[in-house]
Amino acid sequence: MGRGLARFVDSVPVIDVHEHHMPEPVPGLGLLQVLEASYAGWTRARPYPLPQEPPVNPGSTTDRPGTWAEIASFVVGSGTNAAVRNLVRALCQLYGVADITEANHQKLDREIRRRNADPSWSAEVMSRAGIHTAISDPYADPLLDVRQALGERYRSVLRINPLAFGWHPEARDHNGNNGRALLGRLGLAPASFEEYLEALPLVLDRLPELNKVGLKNALAYDRSVDFDPPDLPVARQAWDRPDPPPQAKKAFGDCVVDRLCRLAGERDLPVQMHLGSALIRGSRPLKAAGLIERHPRTRFLLMHLAWPWSGELLGMAFVYRNIWIDLTWSWLLSPTRFRNAFREAVEVLPDESRMMLGGDSWHAEEAYGAIRGARELIAGLLDQMVREGAFLRRDAERLAVKILHDNARAFFKL
Ligand SMILES: [Zn+2]
Repeated sequence: MGRGLARFVDSVPVIDVHEHHMPEPVPGLGLLQVLEASYAGWTRARPYPLPQEPPVNPGSTTDRPGTWAEIASFVVGSGTNAAVRNLVRALCQLYGVADITEANHQKLDREIRRRNADPSWSAEVMSRAGIHTAISDPYADPLLDVRQALGERYRSVLRINPLAFGWHPEARDHNGNNGRALLGRLGLAPASFEEYLEALPLVLDRLPELNKVGLKNALAYDRSVDFDPPDLPVARQAWDRPDPPPQAKKAFGDCVVDRLCRLAGERDLPVQMHLGSALIRGSRPLKAAGLIERHPRTRFLLMHLAWPWSGELLGMAFVYRNIWIDLTWSWLLSPTRFRNAFREAVEVLPDESRMMLGGDSWHAEEAYGAIRGARELIAGLLDQMVREGAFLRRDAERLAVKILHDNARAFFKL
């Protein structure tokens, strides 16, 4: 690869549009915990339930140092998995080791704990990754002001899943959150379905004071993304019932999502939406096409290249001009598919404003690995396209700056 372009891409500061950074819920972050609370952890267990499964309790199960058998189950048993490889490489770079082995894992664990006991370590790692602004989705507490909690580098989005689960105080999204509880914290106590819908703009009014710059629809983890046009009579049937019929629950969520997308369009507030994987029978991008067509004024940032349906997503982005593409996570899932999908995206997207990226991590170490990986892949792919004569080196540099920084600044009006 042309070292010049790689060095250039390495030097571009990143506006990272998607993380899950929240105040650390578990003190004592060691090697095992870093592996578990990351996409490497997804190799052990899927941290969300399918429709017929009981709720799961994701995250670390212990705060003690891992045994070699536990560490080896990641670095040997899943050592060729892309997410594991990416995180192991980041840990090796950050902690100055060549590999994670039976001989050094305890020392590495002690070093991770020592560095993470210092509150400034995570900021140092984010700075070393060149991440100058990060937008977090603190799903454990959707109303959290992440900027106040974690520092000036951060903004956040409001995850709307709880609001789609507000027909009864006992309704819960897959993170255990409820819409009425969320409204209650903002001093709102709707007494009817109509009042509930009327409370939604009042929630959006509060976003600026919480340093929230958009909405995040992660309902692909709770239900299908076929958000149908509002059917108020059916949705109303769910109100105040602990266990309404499935079609009433769906209609309730459809009405809430549709209303929020309309309000976001009126306010020019971006809407991030998870597509692909999750509840895989319902997460194909085209299932969300109706919602996107009904809200042409709403700016949707569709996430993860909708892996594994990147071609379908790019087809939609070619047709609908209210779609932007968040590359986050896609290269951690499969660098191979990313290489093809990225080149295809460069070719078909209507203009250079459309792509952004983020780390999608729970810890700074994983964000460091993700952003480093993205820089390398993107520099390599753009360099290859320059060498093939697709465009000039100056075009590659301009596009890289837009993907890593400028597009996100404009899209989120930072
Ligand atoms: Zn995420």
